[in-house]
Amino acid sequence: MNTTVSQPQNADAPHSTLTPIAVAPGDGIGPEIMGATLRVLEAAGARIEPHPVEVGKEVYLRGVNSGVAPEAWEAMRRTGVLLKGPITTPQGGGYKSVNVTLRKALGLYANVRPARAYAPFVATHHPGMDLVIVRENEEDLYAGIEHRQTDEVYQCLKLVTRDGCERVIRYAFEYARAHSRRKVTAMSKDNIMKLTDGLFHRVFDEVAREYADIAADHMIVDIGAARLGARPESFDVIVTLNLYGDILSDIASEVAGSVGLGGSANIGGSVALFEAVHGSAPDIAGQDKANPSGLLNAAALMLTHIGQGDVAARVLNAWLRTLEDGVHTADIAGEHTTQQVGTQAFAQAVIDRL
Ligand code: NAD
Repeated sequence: MNTTVSQPQNADAPHSTLTPIAVAPGDGIGPEIMGATLRVLEAAGARIEPHPVEVGKEVYLRGVNSGVAPEAWEAMRRTGVLLKGPITTPQGGGYKSVNVTLRKALGLYANVRPARAYAPFVATHHPGMDLVIVRENEEDLYAGIEHRQTDEVYQCLKLVTRDGCERVIRYAFEYARAHSRRKVTAMSKDNIMKLTDGLFHRVFDEVAREYADIAADHMIVDIGAARLGARPESFDVIVTLNLYGDILSDIASEVAGSVGLGGSANIGGSVALFEAVHGSAPDIAGQDKANPSGLLNAAALMLTHIGQGDVAARVLNAWLRTLEDGVHTADIAGEHTTQQVGTQAFAQAVIDRL
């Protein structure tokens, strides 16, 4: 495994300036992994000024329907950056997903989810895997247009627009170029949803023609998902619709070793939101068992985004050394584990290696 992360050139803000960021701990394991992540960032010398904001169930219970406190909107728009812990969404009823509200209200059109193997230190059948899923983040079946026809029939509208497709597909190609990646694969189900997914495929082909330096192909999402499980090393950048991207990125994280490892960026025109790929894990909340790596990786993406690539590299190198030394949380414990630790001890192990 390559154990060092190179430092981006020209990416550093002046050392004396603190960049304000909004921070929402979330719920479930959120506060534990956020505490661990902020400790690591502070020890690594991140030049940030965290502003705590309230989003989630408690805000909703105070009568704010969106689940986002007014001061939180103000802080997100002012800072342009939110580092967020996972937030529980009730299943099959209850209030609307705060995550979906944030993505739509802030115009976070591209959800970038890298998934790579850390073999042999984290067990995986696919040591060569290193891919990025770029997921459309505002439209599709997540547009929230869902209603009751009768007690026996409910309807959910799939919304796909040319603008929405073009923005996220162009982002995927630009991302590939900026990160020296060679291929972008689109996944859709345009053999069945000929108009909506058909539009996505058509716009993909049009945009791909403008990027002659990057290979482009398209797969029907069912065989694409099967190949992602069986041969993930054959993918580089995948761009896809909202629902498929949500499912495929959890598969990719798990195939890479654990859903607890992946970080993600939600990119918009003026605000970017950084979070772990995983959810609030209520089954292990409050037990100091959660792996903070997903949020730590998200924080590293955030640091690069705000021009602190030097600190991101320091954090990632210390984190990789922690994995290599076999200091692991329970979800990734295996034959290379020398010490199984909880959330806070893992953070301390990363800090010891900075
Ligand atoms: P989940 O990702 O929370 O948990 C799935 C499994 O992975 C559980 O066994 C959990 O213990 C484990 N896991 C997750 N993160 C881990 C970590 N950091 N360390 C170790 N193990 C970890 O998925 P779920 O159970 O389907 O969802 C729980 C809640 O989270 C739901 O309400 C869902 O809506 C919400 N959710 C929120 C977000 C978000 O805030 N962006 C994303 C996904 C799910």
